Amino acid sequence: MHVSLPEIVTDLNKIRQNTEAVLVLTQPLGIEVVGVTKVFLGEPQIAEAMLQGGLRMLADSRLENLEKLRQAFPHTPLMLLRLPGISQVEATVRLADVSLNSELSILEALSQEASRQGKTHRVIIMVDLGDLREGVWPENLSELIKDALALPGIRIDGLGVNLACYGGVVPSETNLGQLVELTVELEKEFGLAFPVLSGGNSASLPLLMNKTLPVKVNQLRIGEGIALGRETVKRELLPGATGDTFILRAEILEAHEKPSVPIGEIGQDAFGEVPEFKDEGWQRRGILALGRQDVPPDGLLLRDPRLKIIGASSDHLIIDLSQAPELKVGSVVEFNLTYGGLLGAMTSPYVEKRYIK
Ligand SMILES: *Cc1c(COP(=O)(O)O)cnc(C)c1O
Repeated sequence: MHVSLPEIVTDLNKIRQNTEAVLVLTQPLGIEVVGVTKVFLGEPQIAEAMLQGGLRMLADSRLENLEKLRQAFPHTPLMLLRLPGISQVEATVRLADVSLNSELSILEALSQEASRQGKTHRVIIMVDLGDLREGVWPENLSELIKDALALPGIRIDGLGVNLACYGGVVPSETNLGQLVELTVELEKEFGLAFPVLSGGNSASLPLLMNKTLPVKVNQLRIGEGIALGRETVKRELLPGATGDTFILRAEILEAHEKPSVPIGEIGQDAFGEVPEFKDEGWQRRGILALGRQDVPPDGLLLRDPRLKIIGASSDHLIIDLSQAPELKVGSVVEFNLTYGGLLGAMTSPYVEKRYIK
């Protein structure tokens, strides 16, 4: 049986266009953009559009995705974004040219494994500048670098930071300036030059636009900026980029006139919440074949402004069709997606993936 809806349609030309829009911002400053593929599970067709747009390196948080990318692009440098676990050291060295790290014991294991595989594995040491996800606290950096420099089989490319993820800390001239200062101090202390200063994700893009990115920062790891064409502090579109690279399409299973408030005593719903309702009278309500198993409902943005999302359960989305009388059973409703919506739809086995050029 071939089931084609719901489907997520990726416009590969728009991925390429968004890649070019990011490069217009970074290239004049000599900043390398590493293309982050995790939100679309490392899908090679989308990654290829990024490469066609001008990127040289790809990055993902999952080794499974790096494996797909490695097969599709044997000569493209790959980066592992999530700190490697001790159980992942062999695959990390085998699949990734570079990984982000913060633990000496893992660096020791990577060193041993790289020597065993006859490779030099490059690492970026992550610094925690206050976002409180991964990274070494600045005071402990010098000691870690000293120990890591002594390890055979690995090469320290430089320092990196990730902000605006857990703590929502906004990248700034100050905190990225601190990363530059730490790099300069370490370079002096150990008498070497680190080739890479990896200054974060799509939340660092506004600093490029208002020209406050500290000069020594020479790499950004960009996912959402390309996938959805926007920076992630205020989520504004980048110049020349488009926000509708991905469109989710689902079909209407039922369209009936019904009241807006349920009838009977209200207890818990399917998710253990006691729902509340506002009486908006009778509505023409559409039930879509799209539920939480396909996409988180708060990640959905209706493309037709006449429609409204009323609610969702595991397999159904209820929308108000009152203003769109032409929509009926079998009609297709289209959505743009937030980052969370995109991640959910791409990850769901129930959502068909389709690519257009
Ligand atoms: C996901 C991720 C990125 C990319 O983030 P975007 O906001 O999608 O640009 C960069 N670096 C790390 C470590 C990540 O985990």
